[in-house]
Amino acid sequence: MATLLEGSKIEEKNLQEIIASAIDRALINGALMRTKENPGSSTVVNHAPFTLFPSVVPQSLLEHAKGIQKSFNLLMHRVAHDHQFLEQALHNVIKVDDFTRQLWEIYISVREEGITQPVSLGLFRNDFMMDTKKMEKNNDCSLSQVGEHAKLKQIEFNTIASSFAGLVGALSDVHRYTVKKAKIKCTKNQLPRNDPALGLCQGLVKAWQHYGNKNAAILFVSSIPERNRLDHTWMEKKIFDLDQSIDVLYCNLPSLSSLMSLGRDKALFLNNTEIAVVYFREGYSPDHYSSQKEWSARLDIERSKAIKCPSIHYQLAGTKKIQQELAREGAVERFVSDEKEAAKIRSVFAGQYSLDLDPDGDRNAETAINNPGDYVLKPQREGGGNNHYDDEIKTLLTELKDDKMRAGYILMEKIYPWVQKNYLIKTGETIDLREVVSEIGIYGTIIGTADEVIENHEAGHLMRTKYLGVNEGGVNTGFSCLDTPFLI
Ligand code: ADP
Ligand code: MG
Ligand code: MG
Repeated sequence: MATLLEGSKIEEKNLQEIIASAIDRALINGALMRTKENPGSSTVVNHAPFTLFPSVVPQSLLEHAKGIQKSFNLLMHRVAHDHQFLEQALHNVIKVDDFTRQLWEIYISVREEGITQPVSLGLFRNDFMMDTKKMEKNNDCSLSQVGEHAKLKQIEFNTIASSFAGLVGALSDVHRYTVKKAKIKCTKNQLPRNDPALGLCQGLVKAWQHYGNKNAAILFVSSIPERNRLDHTWMEKKIFDLDQSIDVLYCNLPSLSSLMSLGRDKALFLNNTEIAVVYFREGYSPDHYSSQKEWSARLDIERSKAIKCPSIHYQLAGTKKIQQELAREGAVERFVSDEKEAAKIRSVFAGQYSLDLDPDGDRNAETAINNPGDYVLKPQREGGGNNHYDDEIKTLLTELKDDKMRAGYILMEKIYPWVQKNYLIKTGETIDLREVVSEIGIYGTIIGTADEVIENHEAGHLMRTKYLGVNEGGVNTGFSCLDTPFLI
């Protein structure tokens, strides 16, 4: 199997030394996470799970992914502002999925009242895998041969709480060190610089400037306890580096309803501080709304004059159903008139299929029941750990035959990504050389209104790597490790 480590035999003693030093490096660089036992406090912290070595990515693939980010930002921005498209795409989902319906009701309510703040801020992340399906049986190929065949396939597009920008930035230095220690041949450009937290925070600062009140703060809506709090702290630090005069406040969704208020012009206040930008790192999961109080806080924020990241229509545009609807013939073209541009976007789409209760949905469900290994069944959820695979697909879709609940799911072609070998460093787990697969994320920022785009940027990358055969992803869920690309 072609991997980065091929050819460089690392002796056991040397390996243990590299692992120990890599952990120290991760700690001093700030690739940190609170512990599972103590997620509410930073008294004891640990390194985030990470790969000992970077994973190989063809340069052309990373460039391709980065090169289309601005088009994707714009596409999702336009989708979010197209009421007719949102309604048509989501109407069957909101009949059966309570969470999406509650978001939808907020969207409608704000629309009917009249939008106070037309500007939205998007801090997005577009996730891909390197599909090598066509090479499955070819184990004797070199790295560059596999690389040439690898195709970029989109897994999903995140419009809310795109995380790990801070922690992954801290990993680059660790991998420069481990590559050197393992005597892996490498030029400077093969381990590209990456500071996505800075890129995202430039977006937050631009939005704050646009709001136009020097005394107003940026509010991070962040859970308590929050195990990934230090990734938020990275973002806070980058804002501080850009402009020390901006105050960052933290509050969780349950406390907001009693601590915030709306002024006469719908200015949003937390205690007595005016809020210019609300940055949601919580609010993407039904678990974050345990009572009506959280929903009413969310509604009031949406009604307010503060710039929201994301605003409710961005969050709706990020649902799995919208991504499946965009995969329909002609759907991208509704938003992107340039044919070449639309084709570039389409080129990374994997097959996605509706499960609405109609003949088309019946056919799709039947195909998946007969070939469950070829698909992933996705509900309208974020944060990892929610999808269904293999026999579960068979069972669920058989149960949901003739049940309108089926429309709350979408079906996606399963991607078989490039298998490499690496050591995953997760606290309390054995560290050995095993087969792994990676997911690449590209961060993007956009600021704009329905009629005008004010800023649109690509903002860096993320890699997450997990053992081969583990279906789900996510670092918070414990499946994946942070990683960086080694370009070939
Ligand atoms: P979430 O919003 O919960 O992160 P994703 O669509 O990213 O949902 O799915 C979670 C994980 O499931 C991904 O990180 C990836 O590991 C795996 N996954 C999702 N879609 C596919 C697919 N089409 N093929 C293979 N794996 C997938
Ligand atoms: Mg997601
Ligand atoms: Mg995901």
